[in-house]
Amino acid sequence: MKASPEWLTAGDRDSEALAAMLAPCSAEALELETLAAESRAITLRRFGRTMSLYAPLYLSNYCSSGCEYCGFASDRTTLRRRLEPDELDRELLAMKRLGISDVLLLTGERTGQAGFDYLQRSVERAARHMQRVTVETFPMSVAEYRALADCGCTGVTIYQETYDRGRYEAIHRWGPKKDFVQRLETPARALEGGMKTVGLGVLLGLAEPVADALSLYRHVRHLGRTWWRAGLSVSFPRIRPQTGGYQPPFPVGDRFLARMIFAFRIALPDVDLVLSTRESAAFRDGMAGLAITRMSIASRTTVGGYDEPDRAEPGQFDISDDRSAEAFCAALRARNIEPVFKNWEPAYNGPSGVSLQDDVVSEAHPCP
Ligand code: SF4
Repeated sequence: MKASPEWLTAGDRDSEALAAMLAPCSAEALELETLAAESRAITLRRFGRTMSLYAPLYLSNYCSSGCEYCGFASDRTTLRRRLEPDELDRELLAMKRLGISDVLLLTGERTGQAGFDYLQRSVERAARHMQRVTVETFPMSVAEYRALADCGCTGVTIYQETYDRGRYEAIHRWGPKKDFVQRLETPARALEGGMKTVGLGVLLGLAEPVADALSLYRHVRHLGRTWWRAGLSVSFPRIRPQTGGYQPPFPVGDRFLARMIFAFRIALPDVDLVLSTRESAAFRDGMAGLAITRMSIASRTTVGGYDEPDRAEPGQFDISDDRSAEAFCAALRARNIEPVFKNWEPAYNGPSGVSLQDDVVSEAHPCP
């Protein structure tokens, strides 16, 4: 078994400072308020009154792994399908009608039905319709990430789920995802392959959350030092009800989650912090403006869920904030926060020769 890298476990003063912010003390209420105020000031200074918005699109629910906490694990009896090209076009157009122009494409682990070639064709298609295309799929090689970048993919989201190796082994029952170190090294391969952004996270509830938060912080910091031009983001997903009925052994409450989000904003002032529709409308509204800078909207976790919202099969998990894009944007504006659908980042960060105009033209990503 390959050993974990030293950067993951080595203690240092920055990690200790984060640990101190994460540990509730007797004056917890006051301290949380203090953290919130500092977090809010940093967020306002670095990001202004804006919220970057995206939506997930499930390309396929085929999977070769057996993650205990997931509704798409290969032992679930869920009907399996993948979007064919015309279905994908309809799905993308349905999303565009909602105003969405930043899409996160998802699949399970690599399978014969939804492997790299399928993903590459899907990215190329999505890049014709959307301003920004990123993926949350199976780990790939540097060459594969490079090929996806050439087709218009600019970012990768890949959660380690938990950095507790013992817990990781236990809950990833079979399949390629069982390889802890291979997954740990994936964000660096994605950046080496030309991705502009990488999103990390732990699935809160799987393991002791303070230890996971510290490891996640070290992972982000390690990548930031090596890939200093990369756009890094951190998500805070909590386990939601799903087919399979997995119950989190380390449930995380609202107060700890808020504390963790504020602490990450203070420790990582330039990093995008992401909160998805797994969280309730009330919690998301409360976090907007305090620390979170990127949110998903109008999410569907079923394959084909935007074009066919009434499909009966279950999604990967249940969402909590089910407001429409319109209602969600209205709630943001009511808090004096501007929803941002257009993402200019590729134009600023892209290779020399990429102009702002290139980014605006939607068919600027021909697949080789
Ligand atoms: S979490 Fe991903 S890899 Fe694991 S079973 Fe679900 S879809 Fe497959």
